[in-house]
Amino acid sequence: MAGAVRALIAGNWKMNGRQDSSAELVKIIAGAGSVAADLLVCPPATLIVGFAALARGSAVAIGAQDCHAEPAGAFTGDISAEMLKDAGATAVIVGHSERRHYHQETDADVRAKALAARRAGLLAIVCIGETRQEREGGRTLAVVGGQLEGSLPDGGDGNDIVIAYEPVWAIGSGLTPTGGDIAEVHGFIRERLRARFGPPGQGIRLLYGGSVKPANAAEILKIDDVNGALVGGASLKAEEFLAIASVCG
Ligand code: PGA
Repeated sequence: MAGAVRALIAGNWKMNGRQDSSAELVKIIAGAGSVAADLLVCPPATLIVGFAALARGSAVAIGAQDCHAEPAGAFTGDISAEMLKDAGATAVIVGHSERRHYHQETDADVRAKALAARRAGLLAIVCIGETRQEREGGRTLAVVGGQLEGSLPDGGDGNDIVIAYEPVWAIGSGLTPTGGDIAEVHGFIRERLRARFGPPGQGIRLLYGGSVKPANAAEILKIDDVNGALVGGASLKAEEFLAIASVCG
């Protein structure tokens, strides 16, 4: 873990959680004081207002899982970054592989969403990652580099973005890349960020995501240029989420 950068442990609840899930958030808030990482919980949109109210004044931030690129308009079913901010979110995940895959989102779409997040004053967590076929074809760095290039908005000094490297084949599968493979990709992304943003590129947080669990968190989070984790399944249980965060520091 890069020493100067405080880790971010972000939980992506995906399409899980109802009103009574606030009990898990209450437990996360209670445990947040004893971990040396920033904590972010991204519940489904229906829970953002309630969660933000519960988390107000605590060490836990609330984020969203997606946004529309436009601030308002005739886009049935969509939610803008401004609306998420209004609901109490401080961050939004953009370009998650499930959005790219099930909703055919392109790098250009992701870039527009990241720009929308900036416009609304939200932190954008920009997700990139290769498929198994791409990894097996030796194209991981080319794919990740291309997604990074295409998904990052122009301008800015990088202080409103976080990058999440999530190999598609590692998400929800129980499989993770080797430490060496994670280090290679994170080092590569770091180089690109430094080339793009100059010295501030060193401070952009780079999360690893894909089957992060309490059992593998320590090993993953100690890798150079891994500044935190984007956690799916294991973020649904407060104990597991806090156990992952507790290895930081
Ligand atoms: P997982 O999901 O931790 O369940 O693999 C990670 C993600 O999709 O962000």
